[in-house]
Amino acid sequence: MTPPALPGPPPARYAIALPEAHMDPDAVKVIKRLTRHGHIAYLVGGGVRDLLLGRRPKDFDVATSARPGEVRKLFRNCRIIGRRFRLAHILFGDGKIIETATFRRDPTQKLELLPYPAWPEGAAKNGERPVKLAPQRSERAEDEDLLIRNDNVFGHPYEDAIRRDFTINGLFYDFEHGEVIDYVGGMPDLRGRVVRTIGDPDVRFREDPVRILRAVKFSARIDMGIDPEVYDAMVDFRYELGRAARPRLLEELLRFLRGSAAHRSIYLAWDLGVLHVMLPEVACFLDDDAPGTAATWGRLEAIDRRIGRGEKPSDAVLLAALLLGPLEEAIEGVRDPSSAFEDFMDDLALRLAVPRRLKDRLRLLVTSQRRLRSGKVGTLARREFFADAARLHAIDAEGHGRSVPEWAQSPEQVETAEAPRRRRRRRRRRRSGD
Ligand code: ATP
Ligand code: MG
Repeated sequence: MTPPALPGPPPARYAIALPEAHMDPDAVKVIKRLTRHGHIAYLVGGGVRDLLLGRRPKDFDVATSARPGEVRKLFRNCRIIGRRFRLAHILFGDGKIIETATFRRDPTQKLELLPYPAWPEGAAKNGERPVKLAPQRSERAEDEDLLIRNDNVFGHPYEDAIRRDFTINGLFYDFEHGEVIDYVGGMPDLRGRVVRTIGDPDVRFREDPVRILRAVKFSARIDMGIDPEVYDAMVDFRYELGRAARPRLLEELLRFLRGSAAHRSIYLAWDLGVLHVMLPEVACFLDDDAPGTAATWGRLEAIDRRIGRGEKPSDAVLLAALLLGPLEEAIEGVRDPSSAFEDFMDDLALRLAVPRRLKDRLRLLVTSQRRLRSGKVGTLARREFFADAARLHAIDAEGHGRSVPEWAQSPEQVETAEAPRRRRRRRRRRRSGD
């Protein structure tokens, strides 16, 4: 049977065997079963990127021509999620989920296909095929609102590839043929180690400003350069971040801190002026080169070392390590530190949605540092947040180049050793007649 014609130019194909050791056998099972039943199914996005870079991916996502209902028929362990865009989650042991999404397109996308094989002149290098990229919407008016609000239409593989953010994230892997399928020029960029948007960066960042943070994250985490035109657009459109959903901004900030490239991510965000939009309190603190600046960078390096060793500091510890300098500056020496903390966090909440629980935890961690620095652990060791507070203390000590006290190196042990037995209040039974 001849497959239906697919829109878009034919992709570049690269015969590459991806490293088995990093592959997820369940993702392979999902793809193979879908293909056996006549659907197109590829591994996509970050999974392909990381495998090609020899890294173990965080998650394995599948894109397919099968509709969510068709996917469900093939997998008993399948749950359909999402109201706006329905996705299939295929569940395996240990809470593993293989997200399986039907190819989709950006409904506002104007496809301008190049006559094939008329490629831009002189672009072919090393036998790799140049790709003229869509979406090409740069002719849109400067002030036109491009923010994507509807991402909800099924499409073809080519359309699915070009709606993605960066060329390195737009690759498909076809297991059946052992090939990387590249509609967007991702392979040359992966080899050249450069972060480049798919299509005009001005348009792509206006459509979704969070992509600016994603570019920072990938550049920092994978140690890649940023294409100069993309870099300029990140600077030009950084104020658009104010239009992005605040929970997404917090999440991306946490990903900077969790990805073992916290120092590089924050440095790059600061250098680009992106940090000034997201966290002006930290950016200005760093600009001023105040006495605590070196310790802030030092704490970020300490976080990276710890995560590199397999530790998983909590979000509160990570955020506190980043905010500690300006936060302590704000609360120290004032008459009412607790309301100074609230004011600081209220300002922050205008830009990042910090959930109440995280905020409360942050307060406990930051306000306990003074006492921990004086070495008086005392009753703090009994508090539920002690392990986190001690971890922050250790990160801070490392940031200042000081030695870390033993109790801060393994706070859990202190907790168990010193935690007093809970005093049980005995209720005296009332005797009748008392
Ligand atoms: P990570 O390793 O941090 O998970 P990732 O590239 O896998 O990185 P995800 O957030 O898991 O990122 O997204 C999966 C894929 O979805 C991306 O690789 C990319 O193709 C696409 N994608 C994610 N966010 C966007 C976005 N804002 N705009 C366009 N495409 C996106
Ligand atoms: Mg991912």
